[in-house]
Amino acid sequence: MTSPKISGTTQLLAVIGNPVSHTGSPAMQNFMCQTLGLDYVYVAFNIEQGHLKNAILGIRSLNIVGINVTIPYKEQVIPFLDQLDPLAERIGAVNTIVNQNGTLIGYNTDGQGFLVALMKEQQTDVKNKHIVVLGAGGAAKAIVHTLSQKKPKSMTIANRTPETAIDLAKICQATGIGITKELDPFLKNADIVINTTAVGMGQLKDQSPVSHYNWVHPHQLICDIIYNPAETLFLKQCRLKGAVTLNGKGMLAGQGQIAFELFTGFCADYNLLKKQLN
Ligand code: NAP
Repeated sequence: MTSPKISGTTQLLAVIGNPVSHTGSPAMQNFMCQTLGLDYVYVAFNIEQGHLKNAILGIRSLNIVGINVTIPYKEQVIPFLDQLDPLAERIGAVNTIVNQNGTLIGYNTDGQGFLVALMKEQQTDVKNKHIVVLGAGGAAKAIVHTLSQKKPKSMTIANRTPETAIDLAKICQATGIGITKELDPFLKNADIVINTTAVGMGQLKDQSPVSHYNWVHPHQLICDIIYNPAETLFLKQCRLKGAVTLNGKGMLAGQGQIAFELFTGFCADYNLLKKQLN
């Protein structure tokens, strides 16, 4: 890809977080702007703790069109926004901010991004499916709230800290439990299992969110929203047991596609976006 042509009319898009050096969003969004001939440039800002409020005020002052928000600011940005999309309000976290003529509107596209990936990669949706979600953190919240609106047959949320899973389940008419032996029957019965925990990446890359794989069978779709490494230990073990597996790259491309449309009003091609993440 050639560098974007920047002029006096170029509009600014960005991602904020800490750290942000690993982000794939600039590659995706700049590629799509260039492909469609749109006069935008997308950059990453590493924001130090304590500077978040000024950074958000700067969106208006600098007339930045929109920003993505990543760890650890998805919840902390909310008090500085003017409006929240209803789904972002229910989730309690924002990953996309649109500057609409000076009004800052917060959205959460993580769960929808996951649904886009399911459809694009596996031609499947969650209607009438038995779902197990491992984890109850920020990403799990977005996924569970979004999936609960799509009529799954059942949804079970299991977390290391059971209380968090139980709290999330209460709001979404799901079952909340701990990651213990009591989870086994739910895993066996699941059509789709989604790992949303941080287990499998970084310092936890040699660990798995489950203690065994006796429950895995070939008719299951096993997802991990981690995309680096491309195949976590969890996904690998499930694949070796014959299950179909899906990593988190598609979810990242999916949320990027939705964000691009919110920012620019133009449709982005999912496959082209995903290619930029390799
Ligand atoms: P988070 O809010 O910090 O939640 C972390 C979750 O992981 C919690 O459920 C936590 O359980 C669990 N966990 C952490 N360490 C654990 C351990 N040692 N053993 C068992 N459980 C553990 O983080 P997040 O924002 O939800 O992100 C979670 C993962 O999703 C990260 O790997 C992130 O990169 C990925 N992600 C991917 C995408 C994508 O587009 N593909 C988007 C967002 C996030 P407790 O509640 O017990 O602490």
